[in-house]
Amino acid sequence: MQPVFSIAVPLVPIQGAAAGFPVRRIYCVARNYAEHAREMGGTGREAPFFFGKPGDAAMPVAPGAVGKLPYPPRTTDLHHEVELVVAIGAPAKAVSAAAARQCIFGYAVGLDMTRRDIQAELKKLGRPWELAKAFDCSAPIGAIRRREEVGKMEQGTIGLTVNGTERQRGDLSEMIWSAVEIVSLLSEYFELKPGDLVFTGTPAGVGSVAAGDRLVARIDGLADLNIDIAARDESG
Ligand code: MN
Repeated sequence: MQPVFSIAVPLVPIQGAAAGFPVRRIYCVARNYAEHAREMGGTGREAPFFFGKPGDAAMPVAPGAVGKLPYPPRTTDLHHEVELVVAIGAPAKAVSAAAARQCIFGYAVGLDMTRRDIQAELKKLGRPWELAKAFDCSAPIGAIRRREEVGKMEQGTIGLTVNGTERQRGDLSEMIWSAVEIVSLLSEYFELKPGDLVFTGTPAGVGSVAAGDRLVARIDGLADLNIDIAARDESG
């Protein structure tokens, strides 16, 4: 059978390669840095929990380019969350943390953009988070760097500036659950496949952005991710 139309899959640039990384699914981890867990009302000691975004929420941005993120509808409190993103390159089903490393294709800088006002409401009502987390362009991502080139990514500065002012700053060593532990844990619930992205949580300092803001997200060893927040698209 032939499809009646074709569906475009986001392609994330890979440093030093002409081909792109096709995105299948996006998984996210909440509260993986103690200080951020506390700022979101937790004790800082809970096990992480997972949520998802659709694969086509990924918004790839090439190194040196500036992505344009339209301010999404139905919110007045759009928040930034800078995160280390793990790109999966081999199937992972119930793998140990030691085996998980072989399933990692590489790493990138990502932003888990969040409608914080809606998230607060959904939390209060005990409802799922899609409306807060899974909107179009909610997952900007910079170029992927291959695992062989970049190493373990278990330490190094992670941070974000808005219009040149530092908003978030942490260190990958502060992650409660490491990248390989997250992949291992997640692979017990889902069979991870090539093309999957895992957003591994944000350090403290999340906050609002407005149209006209320039975001620069950075992790030591990876390509910067530059984003401009564009005015809300009112054409719909
Ligand atoms: Mn997050």
